[in-house]
Amino acid sequence: MPKRIRCHCGGKFSCQLCRGTGKYDYDPGPRGYVPFQCPTCEGKRNLTDDDGTSYPCPTCKGLGSVDPATPPPAGMWDVLTKIFFGA
Ligand SMILES: [Zn+2]
Ligand SMILES: [Zn+2]
Repeated sequence: MPKRIRCHCGGKFSCQLCRGTGKYDYDPGPRGYVPFQCPTCEGKRNLTDDDGTSYPCPTCKGLGSVDPATPPPAGMWDVLTKIFFGA
C-alpha cells in the first residue's frame, strides 16, 4: 500500500511532487524508503523565477533529491493523530 508522505514544500502549486496538496503517495519498495530525484527541479536544486532569479527548490529544500524517510516535522495535532489512530 502506498503511504501518504508529507511534502517539504508545505503545499505549493508549483510543486511537481504533491501538486499543492502538501502530501504525496510513496510506495516503499523492497529496499524500503529510498531517496529519489526531486521532480520539481529535476535534481538541479534551484528553480528560476520568471525574472531570472534563482531560488532553492521548495520540494527538496535545495537538496536535489527527496528522502521519503525524513518528512518535515509534523504539527502537534498531527503527532497526536498518529499516536491515537496510527495514521
Ligand atoms: Zn510538494
Ligand atoms: Zn527540488
